[in-house]
Amino acid sequence: MARILIVEDETRISDFLDRGLRAAGYATSVASDGETGLHLALAGDVDLVVLDLGLPDRDGLDVLRDLRGSGSDVPVIVLTARGGVRDTVTGLTTGATDYVVKPFHFAELEARVALRLAEARRPGSGSVRAWRRISATASAA
Ligand code: CA
Repeated sequence: MARILIVEDETRISDFLDRGLRAAGYATSVASDGETGLHLALAGDVDLVVLDLGLPDRDGLDVLRDLRGSGSDVPVIVLTARGGVRDTVTGLTTGATDYVVKPFHFAELEARVALRLAEARRPGSGSVRAWRRISATASAA
């Protein structure tokens, strides 16, 4: 059973995600702030992270940066109210595997979770690895 970590401070949304993902057959855990989320993601017992950006203690993008900086390849789907093109691009270049804007449809999020988990299971073809190649190329240039 795939394990999903939900990092979200709004209880209404985290409860909704928690119930929906459990009903879809996933094991879930919830963190309501960035530091706890980062700690749990780095503890390694997680197959995918759903990450809010507007967190009470630190910005979700900083959490994402620290996660990638620590060498974690775990797929991260950013789930945020920040819906501008620039926000999406920043999220993706910071290391998000996918980016979903609130308000969202659960069916879409669920489809993306399934897709990103399937990708992560295919060795050498995950989008995080692709992102690492892009970052390495960008920093070598
Ligand atoms: Ca929030």
